[in-house]
Amino acid sequence: MIKKIKNNLFIILIVLTYISLFIFKKELAITSVKNSGYYIKEMLMIMPIIFVLTALLDTWVDKNTIMKYLGRDSKSKGVFLSFILGSVSAGPIYAAFPICVMLHKKGASIRNIVIILSSWAVIKVPMLINEVKFLGGTFMFTRWILTIIAILIFSYISDKIIKDEDLMVEKDYLNNKVNINIRACIGCGICKKTYPEFFSIENKKAYINEVDNINNTLVEKAIKDCPVNAINK
Ligand code: SF4
Repeated sequence: MIKKIKNNLFIILIVLTYISLFIFKKELAITSVKNSGYYIKEMLMIMPIIFVLTALLDTWVDKNTIMKYLGRDSKSKGVFLSFILGSVSAGPIYAAFPICVMLHKKGASIRNIVIILSSWAVIKVPMLINEVKFLGGTFMFTRWILTIIAILIFSYISDKIIKDEDLMVEKDYLNNKVNINIRACIGCGICKKTYPEFFSIENKKAYINEVDNINNTLVEKAIKDCPVNAINK
């Protein structure tokens, strides 16, 4: 029961806020419900398309490609591509979340995920075009340059603070709930030798392959043999 409450704490808080609003500020509560209804309707229209798109990208684009172009070792190429990806996107920012989850699962770095999300939110091309129309080219260009500098700085800082395993998806990665601490992994290849169908080594880091039936004995052995305790369940 306590675990259920903990897991749904955010929703419970929202419901309690609405109830309090209806008791103490009825008009405000009605306006809030109307606004929420509008956004829920918008999300229901957009999100199915995003989920289909994410699933297609997940199937068509392989992990090596994502790692090469958006992974930790992609360096300035990854930064540039992340800016492009976020800037040419369309749709509200929440549409970016499932796409970023998929990209991270396939090896995109935290820094590049932050750049994609930030560019998607504040320097999208359609937004810039409208900005020029309403506020003028000088305003748009100055804000664009300064925003890019800010994104570069805080994506770098975020990458130092947030670890791959801090992302909620990491522990449920693929179908097996086995997690690799990418930062700790030294790429020795012992896990791959133990269970080659399940572990692979790319760019001197271990990754997990999707398998139909996981062999827990071999996973346990890999966990035990890993010299830096980078694998856990
Ligand atoms: S055994 Fe551990 S350190 Fe070695 S490659 Fe596998 S996860 Fe990385």
